[in-house]
Amino acid sequence: MILLKSIPKVDKFIAKGEFKGLSSSLISTISKRILQSLRESILNNEVDLIDENDLINKVKKEYEDITEPSLQKVINATGVIVHTNLGRSLINEKAFEKVKNVATSYNNLEYDLQKGKRGERYAHISKVICQTLGCEDVLIVNNNASAVFLILNTFAKRKEVVVSRGELVEIGGSFRVPDVMASSGATLREIGTTNKTHLRDYENAISEKTSMLMKVHKSNYSIEGFTSEVDFEDIVKVAQENNIIDYYDMGSGHLIDLPYGLNESEPSVTRIMEYNPSLLSFSGDKLLGSVQAGIIVGKKELISKLKKNQLLRMLRVDKITLALLEENVKSVLLGNVDEIPTLKMLFTKTSKLEENASVLKSSIDDICNCEILETQTVIGGGTTPNKKIPTIALAVKFKNYKPNKIEKLLRAKNIVGRIENEQFLLDFRTIQENEIKLIENAIKEIINGNAENE
Ligand SMILES: *Cc1c(COP(=O)(O)O)cnc(C)c1O
Repeated sequence: MILLKSIPKVDKFIAKGEFKGLSSSLISTISKRILQSLRESILNNEVDLIDENDLINKVKKEYEDITEPSLQKVINATGVIVHTNLGRSLINEKAFEKVKNVATSYNNLEYDLQKGKRGERYAHISKVICQTLGCEDVLIVNNNASAVFLILNTFAKRKEVVVSRGELVEIGGSFRVPDVMASSGATLREIGTTNKTHLRDYENAISEKTSMLMKVHKSNYSIEGFTSEVDFEDIVKVAQENNIIDYYDMGSGHLIDLPYGLNESEPSVTRIMEYNPSLLSFSGDKLLGSVQAGIIVGKKELISKLKKNQLLRMLRVDKITLALLEENVKSVLLGNVDEIPTLKMLFTKTSKLEENASVLKSSIDDICNCEILETQTVIGGGTTPNKKIPTIALAVKFKNYKPNKIEKLLRAKNIVGRIENEQFLLDFRTIQENEIKLIENAIKEIINGNAENE
């Protein structure tokens, strides 16, 4: 048990010069834990030598693990524009700069500067959204999942909501329409079949228990063949004839027409608003290209009921969300689509992507074997299921490395690409222009670094 005696004493250990300049209380907690586990290992006869330098390095490594930022910048070279795992939508720097002033100082979040008394949190955003969409009123909540929950809980608790069987979807992150409905207190009234639902199915399902006809965007699947679904326009008409609410959970609502012929199957919120619906909801950070938020638009009278639900207090958004959303929607209203990175990426011509790919290719041509490819990608985020859009990728090969080895080496430098047809690809649909140089440097470091090791 001689070893137990040679375990460094905490006080002496944490006073070591190697820990100079670091938080002494954090060093102390980590050191106590590491020294304690060393003691246990000795008692279990798992240790036969104590190396103090080893211990110091262990403590420093843990210190770094804890204090380094965990959320970091990543280069998205997957080509998937709305990539939920990679943070969905980017905020442009100009908008972020404007919002900085609001976030880093006091502000009029709930204060009416003209009247000198309490104001409304959501008023800041209503003018710009209602102007853009032609709606009576708007409410912003934490995300679209919250929007669905709040709407069902407010209007359909202990009542029935009619939904087509073809739309009872599960979306990533365990959001399942039937389960959300159950927890909101609403009763699901399923109609139609998986592949076909008719207008008469909606009409026949309506009874005195019905509060709402709901449509849900299919988001991540599509069905082909012998199918039919009812247009929301007709659902709105039937609901209004029967004096009940119509509601469309649009998933990813976009404000302008999509390119590549996608606008036919995926109409914008603006177009859906022409049907004069009761309520619509959609995400702030899918194709809208802004922050995480759930946007509810529709009839003033219904929105004001939503505002009175106690639940809203739990789902409300903060000043940063509102300020960024205001800036981003304003960009759309003013026609400055280039200020929304998500839309800018979506609309960029493949000739421009090819130009960017060539810049990278020529900078690394002498050290690795690259080829520019025309291929396809998806928008992602449950926005346009099974729809492909054209893109340009650089297939990167070096040494005799297999694609998954290259993928791993680049991922270690926070560059996430994809493997397609047994090739590692960097997809330029999602690579920002100022990231090309960073990728070049990373590839050079990998190749030169590995050369030194060999
Ligand atoms: C994505 C999606 C949601 C959830 O939206 P979040 O903003 O991620 O909470 C809900 N419904 C549909 C149809 C969706 O596509």
